[in-house]
Amino acid sequence: MRILVLGGTTEAAALARLLANDTRFEATLSLAGRTSAPATQSLPTRIGGFGGIEGLVRTLTAEKVEAVVDATHPYAAQMSAHAVAACRQTGLPLASLTRAPWTEQAGDRWQHVSSAESAAMVLGDTPRRVFLTIGRQELPVFAVAPQHHYLARLIDAPKGKRLPPDLVLLQARGPFDLAAETTLMRDERIDVVVSKNAGGDPTYAKIAAARALGLPVVMIARPDKPAGHVVNSPNETVQWLDHVRRSLRGV
Ligand code: NAP
Repeated sequence: MRILVLGGTTEAAALARLLANDTRFEATLSLAGRTSAPATQSLPTRIGGFGGIEGLVRTLTAEKVEAVVDATHPYAAQMSAHAVAACRQTGLPLASLTRAPWTEQAGDRWQHVSSAESAAMVLGDTPRRVFLTIGRQELPVFAVAPQHHYLARLIDAPKGKRLPPDLVLLQARGPFDLAAETTLMRDERIDVVVSKNAGGDPTYAKIAAARALGLPVVMIARPDKPAGHVVNSPNETVQWLDHVRRSLRGV
């Protein structure tokens, strides 16, 4: 059965490893092309946008795709909306591999905001040392609050956009561990962390480190993300794909 996996996450990479060794499926992984050197994947990989819903419909039809898995990041809402619309138009089954959000634990000091723009505002007027762990795309938003010192961790350096003036870039790819995160935040004299609620283990250490150090976390809320049939793990996704395969093949 021909499958398209929309990826860019740890779970998508894990699903790709499962599907690569499974003769029931012929899967392709799709990446947006946001990072200049994406991690090596176990499946044949296509890179770059499809060209909106219509472009995705064209690809699904041309490639004779029989099922789609949306394993994109919880904040990649546009790709998910396009997947839902394109699968509706083509009548293809769609599974959405979702990741539970982190929840506040005793000792956490989270301030909930709805967007990166709101995060920049709630940092306040008094200069602070801010650890920005939100990726590259929304960094320019913090230029509206130039009074702060920012340490921004990302995979690739940002290009061509207006950035906050007092910004130090730390290029690194997760996973990160608690001891290293605690040391980093202490050495950098961080006052506040800005984070998305990504969920999952690979990037949770910054949240635990902030708790251990008594630091506040400005937590940007997840966007509404349209979904198909919700699955919660790579293994569950393979089970769902097999169910679809059996019903398509009548076995
Ligand atoms: P987005 O806002 O939902 O999508 C914007 C556009 O990027 C889409 O309309 C699509 O372009 C293209 N696109 C996104 N994901 C794609 C994929 N897997 N394959 C092909 N094209 C894709 O997405 P985003 O937030 O920019 O995220 C981009 C990628 O980075 C995704 O793979 C996501 O899983 C990953 N990621 C995102 C975050 C985050 O915080 N947003 C964090 C970690 C990883 P067209 O309309 O031209 O098809």
